[in-house]
Amino acid sequence: MIPTEERKTACVSSQIGCSLSCKFCTTGYIDKKRNLEFDEIYDEVVLINQQSEKIYEKKLTNIVFMGMGEPLLNYKNVLKAIERITSPDGLAMSPRRITVSTAGVAKMIRKLGEDRVKFKLALSLHAANDKKRHEIMPINDTNNIKSLIDALNYFYKYTKNEITFEYILFDNFNDSLEDAAELVKIYRQVPADLINLIEYNPIEFARFTKPSEEKTEAFMRFLEKNKVNVRLRRSRGKDIDAACGQLANK
Ligand code: SF4
Repeated sequence: MIPTEERKTACVSSQIGCSLSCKFCTTGYIDKKRNLEFDEIYDEVVLINQQSEKIYEKKLTNIVFMGMGEPLLNYKNVLKAIERITSPDGLAMSPRRITVSTAGVAKMIRKLGEDRVKFKLALSLHAANDKKRHEIMPINDTNNIKSLIDALNYFYKYTKNEITFEYILFDNFNDSLEDAAELVKIYRQVPADLINLIEYNPIEFARFTKPSEEKTEAFMRFLEKNKVNVRLRRSRGKDIDAACGQLANK
């Protein structure tokens, strides 16, 4: 659970482990064990909702599929769980309050469009050219940035649902103003609502660190000057090893 004053958000997992091996993510360093069944995913949400009611006397307001695993590689179970979460017999939550985040499986992004889903989509971009993205996200070899731009446009044509880009800032890797300029170019090719800049949590396996406040500010200001709707997401949950990119059993 990610609690703030206005929101109580559940960050849920779709798989145990992950097969995509992103270099900045602890989950990527453990093998994928299996997909979660739809009722296991639903139970995550129900249990977190119970905690939210108990601790904050408030129901969950949002759900993000940003925990362990790639949701679009467990497509059937994720969609079935969301059907149950949004059903009047389940939690009756609006699909507009649910975001599915993908590392970028172009074929399945298109399928989401064809299935006319009602939830929001987030693409974990994290690098604004193929060379850099290939270095940190091996999935980029088969799903390059151009194929993802096309798939997102296809998704939007069918659904008109909100699209966001997720971009973790890594010191001296993707945080220069040249990177920001490349990011603006990608943003302009997709009807995206927002770029979420994410503060990186260093993990023991990876060589990355987070940039200084000044560099983060400069990157953000460049995007704003170029009329990008941008937000900085501060990291939560580091104290319990549950922050973004840290999910793995010790
Ligand atoms: S960032 Fe997501 S897709 Fe990449 S290895 Fe981690 S859990 Fe898998």
